[in-house]
Amino acid sequence: MEFVKTKTILSKVKYGNEWYGIDYNMNLYKGCPHRCIYCDSRSNCYRIDNFDVVRGKENALYILECELSKKREKGVVGIGAMSDTYNSLEKEYEQTRGALKLLAKYGFGVSIDTKSDLILRDIDLLKEINSKNNVIIKFTITTPHDKLAKIIEPNVCVSSKRLEAIKTLSDNGIFVGIMMNPVLPFITDSEEDIKELVRLAHEYGAKFIHTYMG
Ligand code: SF4
Repeated sequence: MEFVKTKTILSKVKYGNEWYGIDYNMNLYKGCPHRCIYCDSRSNCYRIDNFDVVRGKENALYILECELSKKREKGVVGIGAMSDTYNSLEKEYEQTRGALKLLAKYGFGVSIDTKSDLILRDIDLLKEINSKNNVIIKFTITTPHDKLAKIIEPNVCVSSKRLEAIKTLSDNGIFVGIMMNPVLPFITDSEEDIKELVRLAHEYGAKFIHTYMG
């Protein structure tokens, strides 16, 4: 994996607490390999070249520990706004797992946006963080149909796997729900499919289902 230089990892979120339930934000990777057809992080306005190629951030965990140790306010740290932190390289590099260890060590909470069931690997750390602060897991699921998920989100596990991950997290006392975003016109917006996803959310123990319907 290629690494890019960075001076900071953690950034304070000004209005995040009311809207997203987070106080800080961080992205441990640059780029995302999931190749969702609707991904707006690829937009030119973010100026990320080769967005589909994941790059790590050099000394990310060292920088993060320095930042966490100096913070007086033990808030909730959001991960995954601009890329899925559980990408295919995380299995080997464990940047996210390392960051969760640090959040647990310094008493911070965490909010993770993901589509990957790789998050289950870190359930031990999520439970540890949950015992001291808040944990919010937001699984994006856009369709109840695995075949369609494979087309619109080709490089990540299908919807049924994400639902199973939700069930496991929920059974372990983790606050977890579904982000039904985006709702794609003529592709995922039938009343039948939306109702089915809401039903599945309930069946698999999701504590919320949220959408912008935009
Ligand atoms: S998981 Fe998110 S960041 Fe990654 S390709 Fe899909 S929409 Fe983009």
